Amino acid sequence: MRFRKTAMSLIVAVMVAASVFAQGVTETQSAVSAYTTDASPKYVFMFIGDGMSSPQTNAAQVYNGNNVSGAIELEKLTFTQFPVVGLQYTQDSTSFCPDSASTATSLSSGFKTHSGVIGMGVDKVTAGETIAEKVKQQLGWKVGIISSVTLNHATPAAYYAHIASRNDYYEIGEQMAASGFDYFAGGSLLENDGDALYGVLEDVGYTVTSDRDTILSLNADSGKVYAVSPELQDDGAMKYALDMDDDDITLAEFVRKGIDVLYNEKGFFLMCEGGKIDWAGHANDAVANISDTIALDEAVEVALEFAFQHPDETLIIVTGDHETGGMTIGYAATGYDTAFDIMKNQKMSFVAFDEYVANEKAAGTFDFDRLMEMVEDEFGLTAPGTDNDVPALVMNEYEYARLQKAYEDDRSGNTDGYEESLLYGGYNPISITLTHIINNKAGIGWTSYAHTGLPVPVYAFGEGAEVFGGAYDNTEVAKKLFALCDVE
Ligand SMILES: [Zn+2]
Repeated sequence: MRFRKTAMSLIVAVMVAASVFAQGVTETQSAVSAYTTDASPKYVFMFIGDGMSSPQTNAAQVYNGNNVSGAIELEKLTFTQFPVVGLQYTQDSTSFCPDSASTATSLSSGFKTHSGVIGMGVDKVTAGETIAEKVKQQLGWKVGIISSVTLNHATPAAYYAHIASRNDYYEIGEQMAASGFDYFAGGSLLENDGDALYGVLEDVGYTVTSDRDTILSLNADSGKVYAVSPELQDDGAMKYALDMDDDDITLAEFVRKGIDVLYNEKGFFLMCEGGKIDWAGHANDAVANISDTIALDEAVEVALEFAFQHPDETLIIVTGDHETGGMTIGYAATGYDTAFDIMKNQKMSFVAFDEYVANEKAAGTFDFDRLMEMVEDEFGLTAPGTDNDVPALVMNEYEYARLQKAYEDDRSGNTDGYEESLLYGGYNPISITLTHIINNKAGIGWTSYAHTGLPVPVYAFGEGAEVFGGAYDNTEVAKKLFALCDVE
């Protein structure tokens, strides 16, 4: 009896303490939200690695680092060395594993909404206002939007569009034209309907060009422009950085051109999305993922050069919208070991390998023996018992059996079963099995073909960067920008 009473008192005491603590936290949170700052940047760069969280950035650092046991060392990315680092929580109003439409809306506009909704609240009717729209309308800044994927895709659209469904690509394209923003660049447009959306943009004064020389000579006198990469994939996106050649215009070059077009005395806002980090994450292709993370970092370097030329006026933010793929450094079969250096033998992305396989099939030259030749050339992987300059790339019997099954499943179309959906995630069975094998050998694990609920780091440099420290909701990123830019 006595014990019970004591226990009850203890529970009550804990409950009281918990409520006081909860109150304290609430007060602290509102105090943090209502922070003030004297900083006033007028050149703001917002980099979003779609599907990029700590696993992606650190995988890039391990990949380029020293993998030799006894001298293990990271090769730091540029933006991970920024002086301020924060952490944002990414859940939206419908999911802890949110999509890019809702999360980019939170980053651009400061409120939560449903997965799939762009620039509108949970009622799917009330339109918000984005940081890009506010600085353009209230401050007369110029605005640029760059993406390595299509420009009417969710993340770039969340800076200029307000629509209940992210899939209404044609209407989103029309809203892009109506935005009056000064510079669009990168991929092309989904549902362009025979280039009809280009006509809509041209009708309101945009120069639409995919000519490499024209793009590289753009400047402050070019007017409103949409620079479409001259080298696109079939899906309208830029190529994976891994598959690019000298003719390709890189994300970094599109940022450099953006600065040339946007620079003016009043100010500018430039958002640049590394969209294919997400696509490679969905497809569980670590090398494509890492290469595009490095390409984003190279784009950040261009902004950093500008920041050094315009100190006290420039703010650079680098973050992700959510994590994709459940990527992890560490895998069950490799224990405490990693061998990221062996992934350097992968010479093309899963998309390029899919195309290679399709071409061989079309030529009637594709069988398992031919596949094994292609696998050795493009991934460095060889069959069990073979000689290989990189012994770690000799497949064991289990891995070889996985590849044989993938080959057979591709041939027979057996991809819809429960096991196959877990193995292939809807991708080509052969290429995803190859990336799984080489990733796992290197010590990378994947848990999903979709987005996960991992929080995402926020890296900040320059004027006002200090307000991005701490852990907060993704909506705070926009609210902090509103305050820094002094817009309502
Ligand atoms: Zn995604």
